[in-house]
Amino acid sequence: MTATPTTCEYETRHGTCRDCGAEFSYDVRKPADRVQELIARVAHNNRCEPCRTAHAARQEAERIAERDRDRRNKFILESGCPAEFLSYDRAKLPDVGFFDRVMQWRYQPRGLLLAGKTGCGKTRAAWALARRVFCVDYFENPPNDRYRGCHSVAAVDALTLAKYPLWLTSDSERAGELAYALESRGLVILDDVFKSRLSPSVEELIFAIVDSRTANRLPTLITLNGNAQQIRDRFSPDRAEPFLRRLRDYFDNVTPSTR
Ligand SMILES: [Zn+2]
Repeated sequence: MTATPTTCEYETRHGTCRDCGAEFSYDVRKPADRVQELIARVAHNNRCEPCRTAHAARQEAERIAERDRDRRNKFILESGCPAEFLSYDRAKLPDVGFFDRVMQWRYQPRGLLLAGKTGCGKTRAAWALARRVFCVDYFENPPNDRYRGCHSVAAVDALTLAKYPLWLTSDSERAGELAYALESRGLVILDDVFKSRLSPSVEELIFAIVDSRTANRLPTLITLNGNAQQIRDRFSPDRAEPFLRRLRDYFDNVTPSTR
C-alpha cells in the first residue's frame, strides 16, 4: 500500500491585464477545470501585478474617504456645524500660531477660552478642534468610560441664544432641548455668546450650563471677543465673579499672537 503524497500542482496561464493591457501569467490549480480557472482569475483580478497593487490602493483610499464622509456627516448632524466652518485653508488663516495653539488641546476636563478680537479666527479654530475631536481623536485614541462622551458635540451662538427667551415663554420644547444638549454633550462650543448684554434667562442658562459642566468635568470651548471685563459687564454682579472663577479654575486661555 503506498500513500499518495498530497502535493498541489499548478499550471501556468497567461492573461491580458484589464488596466494596462500587458500580458501577465497566473497559476491555475490542477485539475484546471472551469471552476479552478474562474477562481484563479478572480484571485488575480485580471490584472498584472503592478496594476493589482495600484487597484488595491485605490480601493483602500475609497474606503477611507467613505469612512471620513460618514464621520463628517455625523458631525454635521450632531453639532449643526455651519458649512463655512467645516473646512479651512491653512494658507488663509489670519493667525496660524493662534490656530495651532488651539489645536494642541486634547479632550480633557479643562476647557478652552479663545479670547481675541473679531477676525483672529476664534470660531473657525473652535470648530476645527471640535471636528478633529469628533472625527479623528475619538477613533485614534478610543476613550475610556469617563470620556466616552467626547463623541457628542453641541454648539450655540448669540443668534440662537437670542431665541431662547421666546422658546421659554412660549413653552417650546426647544428651550429644554437646547439646555439639555448644552449640559450633557461631551464637548460644547459657546460661540461669542457674550457679544451683547445677556437677557436674564440667557444669563441664567449660560451660568447654569458652565456651572454644571465644570462640576461634571465636561469641557467647553468658549470664544470671546474681549476679556474678563466684558464678561463682568455681561453678567449681573452676583454671577459675574463666580463665573470668572470657573473660567480661571477650569479653562486654559488661548490668545492671538501679538504682532
Ligand atoms: Zn497592468
